[in-house]
Amino acid sequence: MKYDTVIGLEVHCELKTQTKCFCGCKNNFGDEPNSNCCPVCLGFPGALPVLNKKAVEYAVIAGLAFNCSINNESVFERKNYFYPDLSKAYQISQLEKPLCVNGYVEINVDGKPKKIRLNRIHLEEDAGKLIHDGIGGTVVDYNRGGVPLIEIVTEPDISSAEEAVAFLEALKNTIAYTGISDVKMEEGSLRCDVNLSVKPSDSVVLGTRTEMKNLNSFKAVYRAINYEQKRQIEEIEDGHKIVQETLRWDDNIGESKSMRSKEDSQDYRYFPDPDLLPVYISNEQIESLKNSIPKLPSELKQIYLGYGLSDYDASLLVESKAISDYFNEVLSYVNEPKIVANFIINEVLRKLKECNENKMKAQELSELVTLVAKKEISATAGKQVFEKMWETGKSANVLVEELGLKQVNNDDELLSYVVAAIQNNPQSVADYKSGKLSAIGFLVGQVMKASKGKANPQKVNEMLKAELEK
Ligand SMILES: [Zn+2]
Repeated sequence: MKYDTVIGLEVHCELKTQTKCFCGCKNNFGDEPNSNCCPVCLGFPGALPVLNKKAVEYAVIAGLAFNCSINNESVFERKNYFYPDLSKAYQISQLEKPLCVNGYVEINVDGKPKKIRLNRIHLEEDAGKLIHDGIGGTVVDYNRGGVPLIEIVTEPDISSAEEAVAFLEALKNTIAYTGISDVKMEEGSLRCDVNLSVKPSDSVVLGTRTEMKNLNSFKAVYRAINYEQKRQIEEIEDGHKIVQETLRWDDNIGESKSMRSKEDSQDYRYFPDPDLLPVYISNEQIESLKNSIPKLPSELKQIYLGYGLSDYDASLLVESKAISDYFNEVLSYVNEPKIVANFIINEVLRKLKECNENKMKAQELSELVTLVAKKEISATAGKQVFEKMWETGKSANVLVEELGLKQVNNDDELLSYVVAAIQNNPQSVADYKSGKLSAIGFLVGQVMKASKGKANPQKVNEMLKAELEK
């Protein structure tokens, strides 16, 4: 039988505010355990939370970046549960009236564009962190408790592991552009839960879903989805029922394990937090936040397409904010988008795969681009100079002199190479004259070789044609 997989994601993203969501404690990863805590974030009796305005603004920015409607009024609720990483025994979250609703994220898998709808984005606080020492003991660090978090909840629009990863990549990249989070999965600032069910393709009834918690790499998400869809199909084919439950994915052994039966929202006894007033945001405030958002990848891509770049190249450049910022900076020195894009995509990105640090300052690259654009050196020589610049840190102009790469544009000198190429290659000349026009390519190659790559190929081409047609 054929099955469809139905996936919804819940993505938690920590916001990069200076302080926590409801107190003045520092929001800083990696500090001494339990050094950033106070009676409010630890939930001492009588301590009162004060909402961090920046956290609300960041959550609204996320909503706007993902095409959500922003609710003018939203409410904080208490989600009650006991767990050792939650000293208050409740988490301040949002259920009935979240800040943002009804957005979408566009993805593209195998050239097929698809909109993944968002149900909501709400603001809540993070819990502390349990650290298992590996010999049976567990300690807890409450520094993370109270750190502002947005939860991004999709509709069940995702139908494969590939789509889930494409969604997460698009989400992560756009958030990085807005600057509201550092989206470091390895530090836990972006985490993902997967809700998954399968159903026979011809059925309209959704299957029973399971939830896999806290996946913290794209690879883990990909593997967990493939594992879980296979497991559920096998259970169904064996005549078993899928149990609604929460699973923990173990990326080391590549299996999921049952944690507990899945809770519904009523199990958490949500109620409005009596210590916090509803949040009101005016349309003017929303508009002003909208105007504060830097250009997002989708917008930048349109601009780059307008420069005449291919879809592929434009997409590559907006895959990272660092790269598109760099591209824009080089363009501020030299307005040659295509040449700059070629250097970044073919040379800089290649180098960055070997070492993480970009050694080529934007202005330095712009000098090299200028030499290529003015045809003072050939494109091939440009690559050679780039390599040396990266290695030695010398400027493009100095290296062109040192390596003797200045392109030959002198007509007399070029003509001598052209005449020699024609004399030494009678077969190619005969081919050309009998109508095999591509034979000229070989002759151009001979001139380039004789000039040690310094001849201007375009000019050589023209001169050869003129000579051959004499
Ligand atoms: Zn605190």
